[in-house]
Amino acid sequence: MKITKIESIVIKMPMVVDGNVVPMSRGVARTVVETLLVRVDTDEGVSGWGEGFGSRIFSATKAAIDTVMSPMCIGRDPTAISALVEHLQHVMGNLGRNGPATFGISAIDIALWDIAGKLAGLPLYRLLGGSLRRELPAYASVPRYGEPRAVAHYVERALKRGYRHIKLHEVTEDAIGAGRKTAGPDVALMVDCSSSCTVEQAIDLAQKLKPLNLKWMEEPVWPPEDYAGLARVRTQGGIPLAAGENAMLSDFKNLFLAGAIAYAQPSIIKVGGVTQMRKVMALADAFGVSVVPHSSGLGPGLIASMHCIAAMANDSLVERYDSDVAENPLHDAITPGGNGCIAVPQGPGLGVDPDPDLIEKLRVG
Ligand SMILES: [Mg+2]
Repeated sequence: MKITKIESIVIKMPMVVDGNVVPMSRGVARTVVETLLVRVDTDEGVSGWGEGFGSRIFSATKAAIDTVMSPMCIGRDPTAISALVEHLQHVMGNLGRNGPATFGISAIDIALWDIAGKLAGLPLYRLLGGSLRRELPAYASVPRYGEPRAVAHYVERALKRGYRHIKLHEVTEDAIGAGRKTAGPDVALMVDCSSSCTVEQAIDLAQKLKPLNLKWMEEPVWPPEDYAGLARVRTQGGIPLAAGENAMLSDFKNLFLAGAIAYAQPSIIKVGGVTQMRKVMALADAFGVSVVPHSSGLGPGLIASMHCIAAMANDSLVERYDSDVAENPLHDAITPGGNGCIAVPQGPGLGVDPDPDLIEKLRVG
């Protein structure tokens, strides 16, 4: 069996903004969700779908896939996944051991696992060891609004949607306090600082937030690879820390050795797909660190992440970006039910292919 074609596709899904406060990302209004899809075709007519981290830098990831990785993969056996992705890791290492190169590898790896499941006639989570769970608890990952009233509004909306775990991307006591007040004491509340603080600022913020009983504080420090700094925030701030969406496998080793985090957050569309996600999960197990994967996208990466979570022995949470889009090519497969849980697709591979008509409609590159 051979790979015959790899196509990268960029789609933009306009967000439906509820009210007049627009979510912000690093100081810029966010009104679309950009997603970089990859389709891997084979000479036996089976195709797999993957996703690489896109956001505002998708053109660099797309170029790495189209110009360098795709030609390397054509003619290779898609069922020998470890050998192929290891080869890509070595060759692409000259483009950096993180960033667009590994985001592209992630997309291809996910598509290869989709193919593997389709060939076996099994949903991916069953290839990975199976699961007792048919649905997984999700948390609402509420983007940054910056205003306490908007935070209260979206926390209330998340509660109405059945979520019992809610994460804010706020960094002020007022906004986070409004979130806790609205959520009440029994809902798990998390705060993502998106690597925006110095170590001293993060310690100060953590100490102030301690009475709010947060489940975790996420990526408080810039740069995100300041593991010694994170460990200081964890010790002196007194709140459990989460991090890892910007980390590769070897970075996780250093995070764990530094004792920096309670929750590891590998991102399947960045870290190297299913293959690397599974290695991070095993490593975290060995260090006694909980894994709660990062998933900021609304594409096949989210589905692949769900399969990996389903196959874990312990319970975890699915991160669901809490912005509505008018249409998405995976339709209801990425929408939690009224109980705040999201169903694990039961079809072969990822269990759901993106809708080709919607891809054409939303495609921008
Ligand atoms: Mg985050």
